[in-house]
Amino acid sequence: MNPSMKWAQTALKSLGYAPGAIDGITGPATGSALAQAILDGKVDVLQPEWIAFKKNLKLNQPTRRTINDVYGTPKYKEGPKKGAITILNPTEWRRNFTTIELQASDDGKTFKIMVNRKITLNLLCAFAEIKRHNRTLPVEQRWSPLVLQCYCPRHMRWDAAYALTVHTWAAAIDVDPKKNGVGMKSNIPAWVIAILQAWGATWGGEWKSYPDPMHFQWMR
Ligand SMILES: [Zn+2]
Repeated sequence: MNPSMKWAQTALKSLGYAPGAIDGITGPATGSALAQAILDGKVDVLQPEWIAFKKNLKLNQPTRRTINDVYGTPKYKEGPKKGAITILNPTEWRRNFTTIELQASDDGKTFKIMVNRKITLNLLCAFAEIKRHNRTLPVEQRWSPLVLQCYCPRHMRWDAAYALTVHTWAAAIDVDPKKNGVGMKSNIPAWVIAILQAWGATWGGEWKSYPDPMHFQWMR
């Protein structure tokens, strides 16, 4: 139970939204309610209490050490593809996930993607904030991705010598991979990166030894 999440759920309920159980646990219902409130202009994420809420979200991101406790523990074996893994209990494993719709701009593409239930709020709200910002821009300056990828059970760099990527837990997204490859200059605007980071994401573009600008993960 996270008191900050419970505070947000209570605030959303009093605004007339349906955040699900007031239990202080993040999930799709709270995420959808907060994203809708942001789009409706009923929640201003630049207000101090919501800035504090987002700070708390960021602080609560798991680390490599705690990722299984937060997103689930995969049972797997190596292969069959090099660097990939095979989940041994796929039905049970997928209960950690849910499918959400994301749209960055009113005139942009809508994505249906399967993500970890624990990052639905972060993604839905980041995209709601991005959409609101896009509405303030001239059409030709609006940002909307063409490709968004999330779930992929494998090792980092498709190499079993490395740890499992956060994509294994469906808690990372790759944005327009062809335009944002390893070592490439990102085509994602700085304001979009800042919004995703404010909703708890770690951006791979800031990694010194292996800059991966397509990659945003919800693990510190
Ligand atoms: Zn990635």
